[in-house]
Amino acid sequence: MSNKTVSLSTLRIPSHVRSFSCQQCGSCCLEKWRIEIDPTTYKQVAAIYESQQQDNVFHELMTKDDQGKSYMKFSNGRCAALTPENLCIFQKSLGEDYLSDTCKVYPRRIFASSRGIEFALTFSCPAALQVLLNPEPITIHTEEAAQSTFHFMRPRKFLCYVPENAAPSSWSFYYYQVEPLLLAILQSRTTTIEQRLLQLGALFTRLQSITPSPNWFEAIPKELHYIPVPPARKEKATVLFRQLLLVYAKSTPSFANMLANLLHHWDPISLTIPLTQYIAKTKESLEQRQFPQEAYWSAEKAYWKTTQASWEHILENYFVNFVLGKFFFFQNWQEAYLRMVTLYGFIKFLSISYAHILKKPVEPSILLPVIQEIDQSLNHSNIFFQNLSERIKNQPLAVQTDVALTLSQI
Ligand code: SF4
Repeated sequence: MSNKTVSLSTLRIPSHVRSFSCQQCGSCCLEKWRIEIDPTTYKQVAAIYESQQQDNVFHELMTKDDQGKSYMKFSNGRCAALTPENLCIFQKSLGEDYLSDTCKVYPRRIFASSRGIEFALTFSCPAALQVLLNPEPITIHTEEAAQSTFHFMRPRKFLCYVPENAAPSSWSFYYYQVEPLLLAILQSRTTTIEQRLLQLGALFTRLQSITPSPNWFEAIPKELHYIPVPPARKEKATVLFRQLLLVYAKSTPSFANMLANLLHHWDPISLTIPLTQYIAKTKESLEQRQFPQEAYWSAEKAYWKTTQASWEHILENYFVNFVLGKFFFFQNWQEAYLRMVTLYGFIKFLSISYAHILKKPVEPSILLPVIQEIDQSLNHSNIFFQNLSERIKNQPLAVQTDVALTLSQI
């Protein structure tokens, strides 16, 4: 096993990350988030306030929990360090070195590897969301950090990954070869995004039967077109998806309420009690509700498929960013793929539901808020994805992939 280290002198900048620019809307500094402060930043800032004999001011800004972790305090629902102009008081008066890593990095996700510093975005930020609209495929440019004009705040600690240090008998070792293949499939615009997701699943199924070795890659590209994609199993997919909705609704009360509302719109006739009571009884009611399968499929035909070609690049960019978020390195493939298609299923379900309510086809004004909602709730819910993985992890690999493949046919 080699002992390669990370390189911080090279930047690998995806085009969508380069085009992001913070609009200072302040929505990442609201009380709905827990803004963690790393210990070094906490100590540095505390020392400055102490030297100015302003300990009491400092304690109005930051706090520690029982485990000794430090967090920002909030005032009127906003981060206590936020000025009325939505500027950070630490950045303004002390400089960006005094920001915690959380604040330095958001909404970027920054990784360090042996090939350089790498980036992705998170789409809970409204300005980040806008970059998904670019119809051009995302590209990655490599440049020397010393000469680069790309500005980002370097975190104190990078999330590091070094494939060369993994066991040569593992797929992690070949990650630098696998990643471009995943991106090429996702950006192959001759097929729909569903078909590309299915193709990814078929690729993972195929890779399970190949022993990782230096020449594995030679066999895959020319065979890729012949990897059989399973036929659509929409019925099975909606049954599975209904179970997923229930698991998520049970662990997330606000989602359960939203879901109850949405189901009411799908199937108002069978609603025999007032909506408020219905929402109060959400958990039991959801168990008894049928997934509105036929209505959902006809709405998919009327509202999703009719306009899909005009906004499909938004989903492509979203999933390319997902791959650049290194889920396929830090998680095993089944878990990462399951996460990916679950996100897809939820985005599609919510978009079609809103289109059905509004009686108009899916368009960016529906899709973008749904992606934002999913990224700030579901995609942050490690507990939900852990539960999901737990439920299928004891199944054979082939069954795990089959579950994920089925879900991608939602
Ligand atoms: S939510 Fe995004 S645009 Fe708004 S202040 Fe935070 S980083 Fe900037």
